[in-house]
Order: sequence, then structure tokens, then C-alpha cells
Amino acid sequence: MIGELSKKEIKEMLDILAQTYPEAECALDHGSIYQLLVAVVLSAQTTDKSVNRVTPAFFAKYPDAESLSRAAAADEEAAVAEVSEFIRSIGMYRTKAKNVVRLAQKLTADFGGVVPQDFEKLQELPGVGRKTANVVLAVGFGENRMPVDTHVLRVSHRIGLVTEKDAGLKDALATEKALLSVIPEKRLTEAHHSLIFHGRYCCDARRPQCDTCPISKICKRHGV
Ligand code: SF4
Repeated sequence: MIGELSKKEIKEMLDILAQTYPEAECALDHGSIYQLLVAVVLSAQTTDKSVNRVTPAFFAKYPDAESLSRAAAADEEAAVAEVSEFIRSIGMYRTKAKNVVRLAQKLTADFGGVVPQDFEKLQELPGVGRKTANVVLAVGFGENRMPVDTHVLRVSHRIGLVTEKDAGLKDALATEKALLSVIPEKRLTEAHHSLIFHGRYCCDARRPQCDTCPISKICKRHGV
């Protein structure tokens, strides 16, 4: 058996979280799947809020892969420097600027500027790993996916959806696989958003608010 919760408890937990966080969805502002992809790449190890502060001006200048790719074709170094200026208030901005420029170039050259709805092809793009590909497929294309970020990792272990025998506390891939086997497929993306919101607003990393937590009767409180 994966995790410690029964099917009934998991359903109840998902229902409570859905009622508690009806607004739970991707918090990264974007106007297209391409912009979503770039925003997720920029969000690595930084908050969605800080990404949302820099993307409006950046996307106003370069709204799609072709426009950024054209600028890079004229002068790649200058394009990377310009992107760096747009995003310099977020962590690892130099690396991210390079990745975003190369991502736009590869997307334009290999995929006609269109973000592929393909898990493997997405991961061929610079700066795109498993979690980013899963987010793009879930949020951009409406697929049922379970991207595992820091909140999903922590909260799913605490609750007992996943235990250490199923997946290490830092093992996002094993945690994703375990969650795929206990959460009904049609509720995967919903569960992903709910667990993130719960981690953000209640099950804080340092100070979980167990006294007022709506799922405290179900949660096994591991590591708290
Ligand atoms: S009871 Fe505490 S540890 Fe469990 S989900 Fe709620 S806040 Fe997190």
C-alpha cells in the first residue's frame, strides 16, 4: 500500500481542500502557453509573485518565441543582456536569461514557435525539467498531471498521502509516482493546486497551523 490514507480519506481530504481553496490555480500570470512555459522556467527557486512582477514588461516587449528568437539572431549576447535586465530582480537571473533566449530559439527552430504538447519534447527545451513540463501540460493543455514542487513534496508527506518508505522526503520523482497511484487521475491537477495552496496558506514549512487546519482529522502530521 502507498501512503497511509484510505481511498475514503483521500476523497474527503480532496473535497475539503477544494472547498477551502476554490480559487486554487496556477498563480503565474500568462497570456499564452508560451508565456506560461517561460514564467514557470523563471519561477525556479523563486516566488510566483516575484515572477509576476517582471513578466508584464518582458512579455510586452517579447510576447512570443519568434520575437525573442529574432532579437537573438541579430545579437544573442545583447538579447541575453536585455532579458537579464528585465528579470534581474529574481534569483539566478543570468542563467534564466540564457535559458529563456535559447528556449525561444529552439522552440522557433524545431517547433515552429509552438509549445509542444509532449512531455519528452518539452524536456528537450533549455531550463525545462520534469516539473515544468508537467505544469505546462496541466495548466496550458488541461491534462491531468501532478507536478511536484516544494509545497506538494512537504505537504503530501506530512499528511501521509506518501510515506518515507514510498519516497524520500526530498525525492520529487518518487513522490510524484506515489501520488499518481493514490489520487484519482481526474483529480490530479486539482490536487496539485490544492496542495500548493494548503502549503502556502496553512501547512507552512516552519509553522504549520494545525489547530485551524481543515484536514487535521485526516492528516497524520508526519514531521510536525
Ligand atoms: S494538520 Fe498540520 S501538518 Fe497536517 S496538513 Fe494540517 S497544517 Fe499540515
